[in-house]
Formats: sequence, structure tokens, C-alpha cells
Amino acid sequence: MEGLDIRTLALTTLLLGLFLGVGSLVFARIHSSFYGFKALGYSYFLIAFGFILLGLRQYIPDFLSIIVANLAVVAGFSLLVLGILKFVKCEQQAFKSTATALLCAMALAFVYYTYYQTSVNARIIIISAIIVGISVYASFKVLTTQSQGALTFTHFLSFSFLYCALIFLLRIYFVYTGPPLDDFMNAGIVHAFALIALQLVAITSCFSLTISASQQLAKKLAIQATIDSLTNIYNRRAFDEFARKGVLRAQRERTPISLIIMDIDLFKEVNDSYGHQVGDKVLQEFSLRLRNSLRQYDILARYGGEEFTLLLPNTNTVTAEIIAEKLRDTIAQPVFCPEGSAELSVTASFGVATNYDKYIDWQQLISLADKALYHAKESGRNCVKLYTAEAH
Ligand code: GH3
Ligand code: MG
Ligand code: MG
Repeated sequence: MEGLDIRTLALTTLLLGLFLGVGSLVFARIHSSFYGFKALGYSYFLIAFGFILLGLRQYIPDFLSIIVANLAVVAGFSLLVLGILKFVKCEQQAFKSTATALLCAMALAFVYYTYYQTSVNARIIIISAIIVGISVYASFKVLTTQSQGALTFTHFLSFSFLYCALIFLLRIYFVYTGPPLDDFMNAGIVHAFALIALQLVAITSCFSLTISASQQLAKKLAIQATIDSLTNIYNRRAFDEFARKGVLRAQRERTPISLIIMDIDLFKEVNDSYGHQVGDKVLQEFSLRLRNSLRQYDILARYGGEEFTLLLPNTNTVTAEIIAEKLRDTIAQPVFCPEGSAELSVTASFGVATNYDKYIDWQQLISLADKALYHAKESGRNCVKLYTAEAH
């Protein structure tokens, strides 16, 4: 078919290889926490290098334009699959050994079919068979790692490998049943489609890995923005948003919502006596004890330093006070940090406020609970105080 000229396709494959290679290596440099992009970048370069040598068929020795060129393409293709395996942190040793063995066998076979019994058809069948095998393996691997969530566009990627395998199978069939070829560059449509299949795999791999990496980065960023790294509970920013929405919903549904602020008593003394690291462990144990005592829909956050907040949707003052008392008791249990000191125990003071008035907004609710907390501190600590208009 006139429309699909192999020389042009080989040139576009070369350009694509160079372009994607540079892109992947730049990405690998910027985001060094992701595995696989370096392998991907070098794989594109190897494929491009192979096509440069193939294109120089009349100008350089056969050893380079046939044997090295084809080996470079297959090595590049294997490296591309290795890059994907590295990205999803899959076991790679078996693939590495198999691909190396296949490359060695291919090198020997190519030497034989170039110098001893020249056959373009045999060489095409060998290289195609290897690409079919690698593609089927890659397609299967991509699909089976899908459940781990490391890759997006897995179906797309898996399909492109499968398509590649199919086209190369067809290529084997046509070459096997067709007349002997004397030059790969003048071969027919199925060879052109084989090159397009290679391009498709190159593009989809790069696309799938970059999008997956950017999704993982976005997820990480969202966690960093909302989760406190020391205690693994929500931070102040996330809590404010929950409180804002929670209070609005409570107003609309005319349901009560309560907010508790807790502050560890005399925490400075813990730091001073046991050191900052033990202080950190106490904060972790503190949030763990709270977390284990909560209902699923309660929102717990580290509001700052040694101050914690708890949002209790659909909870009136009486229940909120019972919950606060239960938490106070849980916290006061001894042995807070066995490594720091066997007898280390801490207590906390609790301020509780409820939206008794439908016009109270979330910031007011926090400030009312804060007032109650202040009252608890003034009353000798290790106690629960409710915000009531009379008391304040
Ligand atoms: P009170 O009962 O009145 O709340 O007394 P306090 O000592 O708990 O209060 P103060 O505000 O004087 O001290 C709070 C201490 O919390 C001081 C600060 O070093 C410590 N702190 C805040 N954040 C952290 C943290 O992330 N890790 C550790 N180890 N200590 C922290
Ligand atoms: Mg304190
Ligand atoms: Mg404090």
C-alpha cells in the first residue's frame, strides 16, 4: 500500500523514540522517587538508535545495520517493559534473565541468517516472535498489577501490548507464507503496521506511567495537606473544613452538633523531664487512644501543638459530655510511653460546646469550646467543662 511507507514510519519511530526518551529522562530527574522512568528513557533511545542503524542500511556494514540494529530494537523493547515492571515495583529478575537469554539467542540466529544462510524472512520471523512473547507477557503483567492501583490506564496499556503481539503474529504469518523478501524497507503493509504497533506501545507506556505518577503525586499532596504527619490524624486545615461543613449541615437539618477541644495538661513538663522525643511519642499515643474510642463519623484532629479537636455530628451536649468524660478517663490511664518511663502518665482538659443556637457558625463553635477549655484549665485541669452562657 502506497500510503504507509516504511521508511517514513521508521523515521517517525526514530523521532518519537528520541522525543519520548528525552521526556522520560527529564521526568526521572525531576521525580527521582518514581522507579522505571530512567529505564523507559533509555529504552526509547535504544529503539531510536536501532532505527538509525536500520535506516543506514546501504551506508554501513551489515553487522551494524542488521544485527546491531535489530538487537537494539529488541533490547529497547525489553527495557521498556522492564521500566514498567520497575514502576509498579514488580519482580523483575525472571524477566531480565529471559530477555537476556532471548537477546543472546537472537544475536546468534541473526549472525547465522545474515552470513551463513541469508534470509530476511527468517530474521523477521525471529524478531517478531520475540516481540510477540514480550508483548503478551507485558500485557498480562500490566493487567495483573492493576489491582494494586499503581498504574492508571492499565486497560489501554495492556491492549496496546496485545495489539502489538497480534500484529507481529500476523507479520510472522505473512512472512512465513509469503515470498522471500530482499529488503525490509520495501516490505508490505503488515510491516508498516508492525512499526505503528511499536509506536503505539511506546506512546501508551509513556502516557500511562506519567499519568499514574502524577496521580500518585496528587494523592500524596492531598494527604500531606490534610493529615498531621506525627499523629496520622487530620490537621487543623482539614478539621476547619469538616467543622464548616458539619455546622452548616446541622443548621440545615436542625440537628445538634458538638465540638470538643482537648489540651494535654502540663505537657511542657513532659518535654522538660523526658525530652522532646518522648513528648512526640506521648502525642502519638494520645491520638491513638482517642482514635480507638471514637465512632466512625466523628472527626478527630490535631489542632496544633498538644491541642486536639473532635467534631461530633448529631450529638447533643449531654452525649458530648459523656464522650468527653470517657475520653478523659482513657487518657488518664497510666503507661503512656513505656520507652520513656514506665510510670509516665498524662491527663488532659476538655472543653465542650454545642450549637445551641441555630445562628452559631463553626468558628464561634470552636471559640465557645475554647472558652470551656480555659475554664477546665482554671478549674484544676484533668476535667471536662461545658460551655454554657451562665458559666461564661
Ligand atoms: P497547660 O496544662 O496549661 O496546657 O500546660 P502545658 O505545659 O501543656 O502548656 P504550654 O502551652 O505551656 O506548653 C505546651 C507545650 O507543648 C510546649 C511545647 O514545647 C509542646 N509541644 C507543642 N508541640 C509539640 C510537639 O509536636 N512535640 C513535642 N514533643 N512537644 C510539643
Ligand atoms: Mg497543654
Ligand atoms: Mg496548649
